[in-house]
Amino acid sequence: MESEEFRRHGHQIVDWIADYFDNVEQYAVKSKVAPGEINNKLPQSAPNQGEPFEQIMADFNQIIMPGISHWQHPGWFAYFPANNSPASVLAEMLTASLGVQGMIWDTSPAATELEETVMQWLRQMIGLPDTFTGVIQDTASTATLCALLSAREKTTGFAVNQKGFTQTLRVYTSSQTHSSIEKGVKIAGFGKENLVFIDTDAQYGLIPSALENAIEEDIKNGLIPCCVVGALGTTSSMAMDPVDEIADICAKYNAWFHIDAAFAGTAAIVPELRDFMKGAEKADSFVFNPHKWMLTNFDCSAYFVRDPLLLQQTFSILPEYLKTSATNQVNNYRDWGIPLGRRFRALKLWFVIRNYGVEGIRQMIKKHLELANIFANWLKNDGAFEILAPVNLSLVCFRYIGKGISEDGLNEINKDLLEKINLSGDVYLTHTILSGKYCLRLSVGQRTTEEKHIRNVFELLKENTR
Ligand SMILES: *Cc1c(COP(=O)(O)O)cnc(C)c1O
Repeated sequence: MESEEFRRHGHQIVDWIADYFDNVEQYAVKSKVAPGEINNKLPQSAPNQGEPFEQIMADFNQIIMPGISHWQHPGWFAYFPANNSPASVLAEMLTASLGVQGMIWDTSPAATELEETVMQWLRQMIGLPDTFTGVIQDTASTATLCALLSAREKTTGFAVNQKGFTQTLRVYTSSQTHSSIEKGVKIAGFGKENLVFIDTDAQYGLIPSALENAIEEDIKNGLIPCCVVGALGTTSSMAMDPVDEIADICAKYNAWFHIDAAFAGTAAIVPELRDFMKGAEKADSFVFNPHKWMLTNFDCSAYFVRDPLLLQQTFSILPEYLKTSATNQVNNYRDWGIPLGRRFRALKLWFVIRNYGVEGIRQMIKKHLELANIFANWLKNDGAFEILAPVNLSLVCFRYIGKGISEDGLNEINKDLLEKINLSGDVYLTHTILSGKYCLRLSVGQRTTEEKHIRNVFELLKENTR
């Protein structure tokens, strides 16, 4: 593609994106295609000759777009959000254009140094002390895996890196935490049986005394407590583990304390919402995802550690071809995580934070909390619904309750209700199960969501339960 042609198509695509942002509500939030439908429309082998760009773009519109679920639709209330913003998208275009692979400082000093700066900004924004150093990972799953690997090496004096496992190390987390913890435990070689699930209280937060009992029991049996993963904002119900108390237990037993605040961490940018972070400053590591709620398009996960040298020692490699004269004066992020190669993700964070300002981000968060609360109040005042977990931040877990219907019956009715409202194409919610009860989750976090969109959910609920 020659420069002139690139320019023309580039302008067309920017127009396409602007139109998409303006018109995203015209699409059904959740794609309605059947399994295999998109595949069947695509050739089963690659074209031999290059094709005209117009043809590729036409197929994008006709084949790909129908198979897209619209995460940027203001009716997106499913899972957690993965919101983006114009500033983030524009920065991502520059990142792709520069095509930087920032494995070491020399391969683009600005990529490394901008990352140092924006991670310091982010740390300050969420109120973590300067005893933490940040690094960007692709996802929270990866950050948690890094934490588990660091914990493993710290506990064993780097022996597992050298010899493999010779002792049984234990990891503890609440029964409500994210599946990425189990995945990380398996990948890091602990073995799934050495992940101990700790009971939670009525608000679905980890019970500290149960954690301490489990650790004591393990020690009695010759097992070694290695790591505790606490959750701030569980995916199921936004439960907050009592991280202050957990941190003290970890200190007592010399276990690593990692905090997974993938979604909720962004809320700490608002000082008056920061209570849930109390004690987080005592953790060994902490992760949250700007790619969920902070206007930064996927992927971009912020990982903070107390001891960056320990992180680097866990991953460090130094083959001859990566040695440079700057090695000892700069950060070489290849040793701060799993992959060697690194995308220049700091650029979009920089664009987003500067374009919105910290205050702009706070305004969005507060608006989402307000919308979740308005919705929860409608449910409460209506009487036909039950809220099944404390409304923390911007998540409401609820179900329809009719009179004289069995628990099994309610589970069926609510499953059916979720399917019906999602079929409308205007909203997309997902579900969870809390204490055996099937419930719907309204997770507010899309940049453009307004009161009319949650009103729409409420009306759909009323219509479909009449
Ligand atoms: C979303 C989420 C994750 C996983 O995030 P990824 O960045 O997709 O790996 C982990 N933990 C919690 C609590 C989450 O909400």
